[in-house]
Amino acid sequence: MADFVGAVDQGTTSTRFMIFDHSGNEVAKHQLEHAQILPRSGWVEHDPVEIWERTNSVMQNALRHGNLSPEDLAAIGITNQRETTVVWDPRNGRPYYNAIVWQDTRTDSIAAALDRSGQGDVIRRKAGLPPATYFSGGKIQWILENVDGVREAAEQGHALFGNTDAWVLWNLTGGPDGGVHATDVTNASRTMLMDLETLDWDDELLGFFNIPRQMLPAINPSSHREAFGVTRTSRPLRAAIPITGVLGDQQAATVGQVCYAPGEAKNTYGTGNFLVLNTGTELVRSQHGLLTTVAYQFGDSPAIYALEGSIAVTGSAVQWLRDQMKIINDAAESETLARTVEDNGGMYFVPAFSGLFAPYWRSDARGAIVGLARYNDNGHLARATLESICYQSRDVVEAMEQDSGVHLDVLKVDGGVTANDLCMQIQADVLGVPVSPSGGRRDHRARRRLCGGSGHRLLARHRRAAHPLAGVQALGAPVVRRPARGRIRGLEEGRGAHARLGQGRI
Ligand code: ADP
Repeated sequence: MADFVGAVDQGTTSTRFMIFDHSGNEVAKHQLEHAQILPRSGWVEHDPVEIWERTNSVMQNALRHGNLSPEDLAAIGITNQRETTVVWDPRNGRPYYNAIVWQDTRTDSIAAALDRSGQGDVIRRKAGLPPATYFSGGKIQWILENVDGVREAAEQGHALFGNTDAWVLWNLTGGPDGGVHATDVTNASRTMLMDLETLDWDDELLGFFNIPRQMLPAINPSSHREAFGVTRTSRPLRAAIPITGVLGDQQAATVGQVCYAPGEAKNTYGTGNFLVLNTGTELVRSQHGLLTTVAYQFGDSPAIYALEGSIAVTGSAVQWLRDQMKIINDAAESETLARTVEDNGGMYFVPAFSGLFAPYWRSDARGAIVGLARYNDNGHLARATLESICYQSRDVVEAMEQDSGVHLDVLKVDGGVTANDLCMQIQADVLGVPVSPSGGRRDHRARRRLCGGSGHRLLARHRRAAHPLAGVQALGAPVVRRPARGRIRGLEEGRGAHARLGQGRI
């Protein structure tokens, strides 16, 4: 009998496959990084074929590590880096171009033109997003306009668009041999092409980008009675396993942290940072630079919406220390190096490599390091990098508090950077609230406790009168970082300086 479920996590830095048993325990996993292709300043690409090959490898390796066969899997779910855009030829499965990654800023002029023409306001109203390089619409337009033959192919039905969920799904379910071309509402809500109320592609929005509708995948609920598709026995797994759920990575983390009630939020620290606040069935329009997005839709139930504060560069600034500056050998060393100094030595770093996302939305901003003195060394740079993650998060937490009235009693965090104790301590100090990492083994009840306890004004009508779990903090969770008492040298100055830099005032 098939006793296990598998999850593909196709992320920005890596792809992993995890296998869980009936009780939700992880029994096996495997993970592989893929290349970050940086052809020019501001451009970030991935090779979709490499991503598909990595997906195959991690699935097969995880099954082998768990001593399992594909038939042991009852179902597979897919979660993915959102917005990253793949356009491929369904006749042979070949991508027309590399995947244009969400951090890529080449569509800067497309985004600026949308605002000049007034179309930006229609996108804000219908799609809940500010026109920005971040989202898929402009990336699809760029491929149609700049890669030979793609426009004609698209008009004849020979070019399909997908984020990496749809790319992996199409390949798993048969590829050129009848692969399913579909996505879920959460991924579709990141394209600037879907109307948040109808949950369907919108012709007016498609017209802004001149995108033929037949390129686009079918939009399904995130999970549904009917599977998205079934893996083909001719494909790498050599078994027919239903793919029953698809969810963008940040929405998946929100569900994984059991943030099912309005007012519950989580912050993920991966390549970038993403704070997501559940707003229930209510579409809340941000006044303070956050996105409105779909959190999830299960079966025939109404869609649940969220406010999101997205930050383009957090963990990837640590990768930059490793790959470009070459001052560390692996991400964890950023902590060791930062601990060689007592404070940032007056140095501040705004890693606006991809412009600035929430709450500023400045595609034209670029990175800056200020406050340099002869005294500064690599330790200060590592420390300023970790601090920049925390200052950027503070901007977003404040925007969320202003938009929603939700005051976070505790910040629930997950993602690769949360392994960095120093960074999490700085975050608690900069925010003045405890930071509670998830991860490790934790039972379902403790997870629910983690998500209780947010009061909220705007969302008050959703408030559960006396939620039994409200206000109770994590029990048995990994170490909660509490803010240090008193003033911390350097951090106070940083609060003002960082925000001013972000707004381009320096
Ligand atoms: P994604 O899903 O976006 O690929 P992950 O949640 O897997 O991201 O986290 C990967 C990111 O976390 C990388 O950018 C890496 O630099 C960063 N990271 C991993 N471990 C550490 C650490 N100990 N300290 C700081 N950053 C880390």
